[in-house]
Amino acid sequence: MTLADRMQFFDSSGIRKVFDLAKSMTNPINLSIGQPDFDVPDIARQAAIEAIESRKSGYSSTQGIAPLLDKLQGRLQAEYGHTDRKPLITSGTSGGLVLAMLALVNPGDEVIYFDPYFVIYESLVRLAGGSSVVIDTYPDFRIDLDHVRDAITPRTKVILFNSPANPTGAVADSAVTRGLAELAAERNITLISDEIYRLFCYDGAFESPAKYNPQTLVVDGFSKTYGMPGWRVGFAHGPNEIIQAMGRLQQYTFVCAPQPLQWGGLAALDADMQPHIDAYRGKRDRIVSALREDYEVECPSGAFYVFPKAPRGTGTEFVTRAIERQLLVIPGGIFSRRDTHFRISYAAADATIDRGLEVLHTLARG
Ligand code: PMP
Repeated sequence: MTLADRMQFFDSSGIRKVFDLAKSMTNPINLSIGQPDFDVPDIARQAAIEAIESRKSGYSSTQGIAPLLDKLQGRLQAEYGHTDRKPLITSGTSGGLVLAMLALVNPGDEVIYFDPYFVIYESLVRLAGGSSVVIDTYPDFRIDLDHVRDAITPRTKVILFNSPANPTGAVADSAVTRGLAELAAERNITLISDEIYRLFCYDGAFESPAKYNPQTLVVDGFSKTYGMPGWRVGFAHGPNEIIQAMGRLQQYTFVCAPQPLQWGGLAALDADMQPHIDAYRGKRDRIVSALREDYEVECPSGAFYVFPKAPRGTGTEFVTRAIERQLLVIPGGIFSRRDTHFRISYAAADATIDRGLEVLHTLARG
């Protein structure tokens, strides 16, 4: 065997399979994509172009370009007022997650997270040598703090929390966010909060667990907020000791996030994204009210996903039938120990959403 044993944890993502299928279809109704359909703000594109034209082609410092770090530090100070909270610019939010896992998890340590979960969590825990302790949140995707308490063992090192969530769009309420933050503090467990969808909150203001637990490590990024997932710029912030450790790992792995695109990210921070968020709220409302006629579905308060239950059979069987009708959605089993649901992304044009809803009605009734 040529490849290392760990490669077994990197089964080519089922999402990729749907993407490949999409390429082979002539006019697919694509509601499978986990990225915004809006454009990068002009000021960010111009700043990235200007950075390339002015030959900002070298490495940046591992931590990131100083003006971006300063701006984020100012925002963190204003939002949390934690004296020890420091930022680090990463290669996308995924880069931040990789560094966080490698910096925190020892072989044999347990990492708690919530099912359904973002697809890479399981592989990253294994990569670090840890084991996953997965807490089921069906049918309403609400975190039950008693279940978390019961799942904690002396080996629990990290709780990985994602709100608004991929793939459900669920947003934890304030009591859960606070309860989880306090529980982690009380048991001396590091809470990692994946806040990549923090701007995509439709029914109330976003609240980070870092507000209640200064030791929280946050991973965040520009991919979704500013429609630039291909730019590979993200950031993490947390207690200085953890951020320093992640920086040392970054120096020996990713080195730094792409410099010109960090300048683009810096400019993006001044863009007003609210019109896009309002438009996505409208799409959410439209899709949820249409789905409710035929499907068991929770109304998601954030991100840009809906996670309905397949009307009969498994999620995979349902998605196979959808694909036969040119509709691309993702089977829930990719994000879960259960194969009962499917993920719709509504980061798409209204006309595409309407075509998708038509197929979904037919499938539910047929
Ligand atoms: N966390 C979650 C919950 C996500 O949905 C994604 C992207 N789909 C990421 C992290 C990774 O984002 P990035 O593209 O910035 O690496």
